[in-house]
Order: sequence, then structure tokens, then C-alpha cells
Amino acid sequence: MRLDNRETIGFDALIIATGVAPRRLPDSDLAGVHVLRTLDDALHLRAALPTGPRVVVVGAGLLGTEVAAATRTMNLKVTVVEPEPVPVRRPFGDRIGALVGELHRDHGTRLRCGIPVRRLRGAAGRVTGADLGDGTTLPADVVVLALGSAPATRWLTGSGLRLGDGVECDALCQAAPGIYAAGDIASWHNQRFCTRMRLEHRMNATEQAMAAAGNLLGDAEPFAPVPYFWTDQYDTRIQAYGIFPPDADVRIVHGDPVDGYFAAAYGHHGRVVGVLGWNTPRRVRTSRRLVAERASWTALTDTPALRSATVN
Ligand SMILES: Cc1cc2nc3c(=O)[nH]c(=O)nc-3n(C[C@H](O)[C@H](O)[C@H](O)COP(=O)(O)OP(=O)(O)OC[C@H]3O[C@@H](n4cnc5c(N)ncnc54)[C@H](O)[C@@H]3O)c2cc1C
Repeated sequence: MRLDNRETIGFDALIIATGVAPRRLPDSDLAGVHVLRTLDDALHLRAALPTGPRVVVVGAGLLGTEVAAATRTMNLKVTVVEPEPVPVRRPFGDRIGALVGELHRDHGTRLRCGIPVRRLRGAAGRVTGADLGDGTTLPADVVVLALGSAPATRWLTGSGLRLGDGVECDALCQAAPGIYAAGDIASWHNQRFCTRMRLEHRMNATEQAMAAAGNLLGDAEPFAPVPYFWTDQYDTRIQAYGIFPPDADVRIVHGDPVDGYFAAAYGHHGRVVGVLGWNTPRRVRTSRRLVAERASWTALTDTPALRSATVN
């Protein structure tokens, strides 16, 4: 392996853990345009926010919505732009996405869903706004790009490893003999869910690193976790165990969205594949076993469906 300074390092075994890099838009180098990945990014953004009251967040995934919530609590005027019809659609699906949208609107954050940002506008090297797909322009003093990330695989081009959505590995997190990957960059086959996945969650990075190291040392243990992540938005904590396919059946197993707390289960191909808690940490933790055991969905089909009508 060769470093930038031309030094060469030999290895008997290798773990690749170079993570991801944030996606950007053309004109991202205008002053006032931020991404959020490193501590420096966070410090720059914090210093910039008080300089202008109009904040545009591009992208309503987990990061974009968390930035919007944090920024709104600073009493700034925040607009989130997202091409999907609801926020956090990719991690949670339409119905929870609609609830998260409602939460943001209740706190005074403006959502422009179903519309992409076409380009950023600037004057004298500083951002002044964002042109949207519907022909309108949103004025902005600060723009935060939360467009997702791309696996940092460029340095592996020509290495002979399979690079798809990340470094492609088998169930043991092995990409090639003696070469393993872990964390945000690793795409591996999770046998528990019979599917390939790549996760960008801190807990996964830690657990997968330990699994990859163990396998490198001869454990030969498939890495088959129940994925876990959480997001804090205003005073709401959403915790999620498992996977959340867009075509899953979603049912309420505890509480009620109108009361501000509930747990929902996601059913797919006859099995419980995910549980999500909305301000119910204890309940969702105990429901995790339904996912771990791949419980039959049949027992839950008489629980109320999380209907779109409930959330719109
Ligand atoms: C703002 C933000 C908030 C987040 N919040 C949460 C949260 O609430 N909960 C949660 O579960 N997860 C959260 N995450 C995700 C979590 O941080 C990541 O899943 C985790 O950091 C992944 O760890 P990693 O080691 O795979 O990658 P990283 O932590 O990204 O580390 C990769 C390292 O590799 C280095 N690198 C890249 N290319 C090269 C190269 N060619 N040579 C050498 N080194 C290289 C990078 O500089 C970096 O230091 C958040 C992420 C961000 C950006």
C-alpha cells in the first residue's frame, strides 16, 4: 500500500475503514455553504449561524433534519429542501416521514418537499440563495448541504477489490483473502436479513470493526447484527432497530402518534424486520427481540396500521 508521500507499507492483513465523504453541489465553494462531517465542519457552522438569519438546509435525511431542528432552536429562519415527498423517507418510509414533517412544521421549520435544489446562487463569492426545481429562488445567508455521502473508495480504484456501493464484502466482512472492511465504507451480506447492506451508524462501525478484526484473526463468525440507530429532533427521540423497507407493513404496537409517543413494528415477507420507538426508549428496547428472532408478522396483523391519514 502506497501513501501520498510515496512511502510504501506492506501488510499481512488489512482492514479498510476510510468511511464516507459528504456529497456536494456545484458552487459549494461559495462562502456561507457548509457540509457537516468533521469537528472542524461543526465549529465552522456554529460560528457562521449567527451571521445570518436565513438558513437553507439541502436534504431532509437524518442529518438535514437534525441540523434543521438544532438551527431552529437557535431561533433562525430555517427552510429544508428535499426532492422526496416527505423527510427521512429513505431510513423510515412515508408514514414516519410524514410524522417527522409534521414535527418540523409544528416547530416553525419550513419544509419544501418534492422539489430538488438545482443550483446555488452567489454574489461576490458569497452564497445568496438556492434555485429550486420549481423555478423559485430561496434567499439564504447560510446553506447547509446534507445530501448524503459517498463511500471513500477512490484510493482503491485499480486495487482489484469489488467496489459497488462501498467495498463489497462477504458475510465475514472479508473483501478478498486477508482484506476486510468495516464501518460506513463496508457493504456486506447480513445473513440475519438475507440481504446486502451498508450502514452509516456509529454503533455499527464499532461492532463491525470488532467483528472484522476477529475474523481476520480466525473467528470465521458471520457479522449479522440487528442494526440500531437513533435521531434526536427537538424534544423527540426516535430509536430504530432493524431494517425499514419502503414497502413494509407498519403497525402501532404501543401508544399512539397523537399522544406524542408510540412504538411501531415493520413487517416484511411475513417477518418482523424493524421496530421504531417515538419517545418510547424502554418499549422499543424490549421490542428489539422481535427483530432479532425474526418473529412471525402474523401475530401483529391485528394491531392498528400506522395509516397515512393518521399522520397527514
Ligand atoms: C454530523 C454527523 C452526525 C452523526 N450522527 C450520528 C448519530 O447520531 N448516530 C449514529 O449512529 N451515527 C451518526 N453519524 C454517523 C457516524 O459518525 C459514522 O457512522 C461513523 O463515524 C463511521 O465510522 P467509520 O470509522 O466507518 O468512518 P469515519 O468516522 O468517517 O472515519 C473514516 C476515517 O478515514 C479517513 N480516511 C478517508 N480516506 C482516507 C485515505 N485515503 N487514507 C487514510 N485515511 C482516510 C477519514 O479522514 C476518517 O478519519 C453521524 C455522522 C455525522 C457526519
